[in-house]
Amino acid sequence: MSFNCRQCGLCCRELLQKDMGIQRGLTLLPNEIKLFSEEQVKPYLGYGKRPYDKDFKIHAYQLTQPSCPNLKENKCTIYDTRPATCRQFPFSLDPDPEEGILLGVDMNCPAAVELVNNSSGVLDFPDRESAMRIYDLKKLVTVNARRVWFYDLESDKWMRYDKLD
Ligand code: SF4
Ligand code: SF4
Repeated sequence: MSFNCRQCGLCCRELLQKDMGIQRGLTLLPNEIKLFSEEQVKPYLGYGKRPYDKDFKIHAYQLTQPSCPNLKENKCTIYDTRPATCRQFPFSLDPDPEEGILLGVDMNCPAAVELVNNSSGVLDFPDRESAMRIYDLKKLVTVNARRVWFYDLESDKWMRYDKLD
């Protein structure tokens, strides 16, 4: 079965969420920050001993807006160049120590619910390449938790991953 988006726009609203005690927005890869205005973007994931050190590298950014500024009348105005996070939705790929890679489906999406309920078990994954780019970020988190930092939008501070709740 193929995924059939209803263009309800739900996945482009309510983008801020709290996870492990940090407030975060839509994940953006470095080459995607140009899709938004400068004041709408903050860092998201950094790797290094300490933020702002010479060797500290920012691997991902985030949109600070609760609703995407590119959504107009439930349509994406930058559809052809939209970020990898949007391209993979409602699917995701996650590292798993036993299985290698796990496929996730976001059941907040009504089209995903329909797809899963009517599927015989074989799903057509629309954009695996984008999902792999986000997967690579998640893999980085598993390398050395003491060097992974997330930027909390609420406190406007970097938080070390292994110290999060
Ligand atoms: S929530 Fe699902 S159905 Fe609605 S716009 Fe997003 S991908 Fe499409
Ligand atoms: S860039 Fe497009 S698809 Fe992504 S959240 Fe914004 S409106 Fe939705």
